[in-house]
Amino acid sequence: MEIVVLLGAPGSGKGTVAAKVSTATGFLHISTGDMLRESIKQGTDIGREAEGYMKRGTLVPDAVMVRLVETRLREGKSKDCYMLDGFPRTLPQADLLDQALAKIAGTTVRRVFFFDTSREVLIDRLTGRRTCKKCGANFHIRNIPPKKAGICDVCGGTLIQRPDDQEETILKRLKVYNEQTESLIAYYRQKGVLVRLDSGRPADVIVKEMLPLLEFGDGGRSTGVPASR
Ligand code: AMP
Repeated sequence: MEIVVLLGAPGSGKGTVAAKVSTATGFLHISTGDMLRESIKQGTDIGREAEGYMKRGTLVPDAVMVRLVETRLREGKSKDCYMLDGFPRTLPQADLLDQALAKIAGTTVRRVFFFDTSREVLIDRLTGRRTCKKCGANFHIRNIPPKKAGICDVCGGTLIQRPDDQEETILKRLKVYNEQTESLIAYYRQKGVLVRLDSGRPADVIVKEMLPLLEFGDGGRSTGVPASR
């Protein structure tokens, strides 16, 4: 099992890039935000517990998040490669992830991509973001417009503004990121697995930079990335 983590503020481009990398490689994209939104849609216990936190732009408790991710990883196969988007978001989550990986697969986080960009870019991306109600695909009113206004290119679903993409909640989420998530940069740098990416650039440029960094010296077999590329 290979695990890479995408770390960065809301709006830094993790989800958009992860979707593209996942299509280009064998990496499975796990977005905890998407998982929680799906749980809310389905009306599960976790969904009910998470909804209030998400609406307010605060973090869902660590215990809930770790249970959610650990359950998902346990369902996986030993040859699976995962790209975690939006998890971990706190030091306790990072620590519990390490413990869970050791237990489940005898492995550790292989690489952490830190999506670094300015506050102005983050706010512009979040306020302009439109999300498919049905499949969760992301667009942007100017940067990534859908072919047909208000309609998802991927599944034809309706595009909406996420409830937590309103200005006031965006500012709250950025504050929460600074207070609770940013310290993970130092945590992973110390472990020697951190790669910084300038994520103010277009997604395709970032994907191109990431692909070689997802080959771990075994000809790409463990990653699903074609060895010949
Ligand atoms: P995202 O789609 O990654 O922006 O996540 C949306 C919301 O889901 C966040 O603002 C949190 O309320 C919640 N969430 C997602 N991932 C986590 C996590 N790892 N820890 C705590 N809360 C999370």
